[in-house]
Amino acid sequence: MDDRQFRTAMGKFATGVTVIATEVEGDTHGMTANAFMSVSLDPKLVVVSIGEKAKILSKIKESKIFTVNILAADQQELSMIFAGQLKEHKEVAFGRLDGKPVLDGAVAQVACEVSAEHVEGDHTLFIGRVTDIHLEDKEPLIFYSGKYRSLVAEQPVTI
Ligand code: FAD
Ligand code: NAD
Repeated sequence: MDDRQFRTAMGKFATGVTVIATEVEGDTHGMTANAFMSVSLDPKLVVVSIGEKAKILSKIKESKIFTVNILAADQQELSMIFAGQLKEHKEVAFGRLDGKPVLDGAVAQVACEVSAEHVEGDHTLFIGRVTDIHLEDKEPLIFYSGKYRSLVAEQPVTI
């Protein structure tokens, strides 16, 4: 099995899009990620998976904190900025939740403290203990088969 086949198959799992953010000595760093999952309700835990080449990896190891910002449908540009897909550098202002950097306008902001990290293959899984949450009533951004999408509500069937 080649890498392309694996990625094509994994891309068939439609996901939301998040920006993981952390802060070291006052410098905030963000990275676009769709490898995010809810893990446990009691205690409240989530997991993110960060590639070994990502600059944010060493920063989360050092800070021991991160936030997960679940992007809204109108935040595709932020996804592209934090995936390094835009040519020009754009300044992004961060807000605060529980003292941690978050992106305003996200569908959900989830503030976490690292409770465990596991190296698996070429990624590190960070388990985050959730310390605070902020929600907004907006539609999410969707990622499917390598393309951004938006949710389309099913029309009720009328006979
Ligand atoms: P960099 O390459 O340094 O940062 C990424 C970009 O963010 C740069 O352009 C940088 O300028 C910008 N940036 C960072 N901080 C700031 C700031 N404070 N203000 C303004 N701009 C800033 N990779 C994974 O490891 N796991 C995943 O789950 C994952 N999911 C992805 C899902 C999607 C939909 C996409 C498009 C990519 C995904 N990636 C994932 C790939 C990952 O987003 C890129 O490889 C990313 O460029 C790696 O980031 P980095 O930490 O090396 O940081
Ligand atoms: P793509 O076809 O590369 O990705 C489709 C799916 O494959 C992703 O949703 C993910 O589930 C999986 N995948 C892709 N790269 C992976 C990796 N290095 N490790 C583990 N799983 C991976 O989609 P695309 O639009 O070309 O992606 C844009 C860029 O973002 C690519 O460079 C891709 O490698 C990267 N990306 C990385 C991850 C990740 O590291 N977990 C996830 C998504 C995208």
